[in-house]
Amino acid sequence: MSRPGLLIVLSGPSGTGKGTICKCLLEKNPELELSVSKTTRPPRKGEEDGVNYCFVTVEEFKEAIANQDFLEYACVYDHYYGTPRQAVEKKLAAGKNVILEIDPQGAQKVMRAYPDGVFIFLLPPSGAELRKRITCRGTESEESLTKRLAAASQEVMQASKYNYVVVNDEIASASERILSIIQAEQLRVKRNQDLIWQLAEEVKE
Ligand code: 5GP
Repeated sequence: MSRPGLLIVLSGPSGTGKGTICKCLLEKNPELELSVSKTTRPPRKGEEDGVNYCFVTVEEFKEAIANQDFLEYACVYDHYYGTPRQAVEKKLAAGKNVILEIDPQGAQKVMRAYPDGVFIFLLPPSGAELRKRITCRGTESEESLTKRLAAASQEVMQASKYNYVVVNDEIASASERILSIIQAEQLRVKRNQDLIWQLAEEVKE
């Protein structure tokens, strides 16, 4: 049986570049798997159903809650977002490292359910840069923009609950730092006990 994969949670305020970082991580390491969340938010221009998110109605989302289909879910900026439990558990059991790009409310639920997970918080290089990124990407309505900017400061405070902080000053180098975290986590003694025992036995023989 293969070792279970790592559950990696990536959070950060809107506009920190989580989506771009995830894309870059998958390009640099095709072995990583990204969990595709369900959401009731309408798709943005260019977003594909089943790729960026599975876009569902509020009724469908509530049914999934009732069926306990979510590993975690939260209401973020007036829309529901949830991580499908079965897909993630199947990948982890198959030894795949899975990334969840989710908000801090959801991350806290995962911290309780999966204390062995790796929790990474992505920070913008500065407050001014974050405001610029959210405003300039032009994907949000005026109302959504105001909400996201107001939430950003509160969200940054959540970083202290995570295991690692990574400043997204530049996509490629921030991604490399995250890949180093993943590599180091895989080498932790607690994740390699089977190897230690096996070698101890082999040495005895
Ligand atoms: P956006 O609308 O910009 O795609 O996402 C809004 C927020 O929802 C982001 O902070 C994103 O990380 C978070 N999010 C996306 N999917 C999930 C999920 O499955 N669960 C939770 N709790 N948050 C999610």
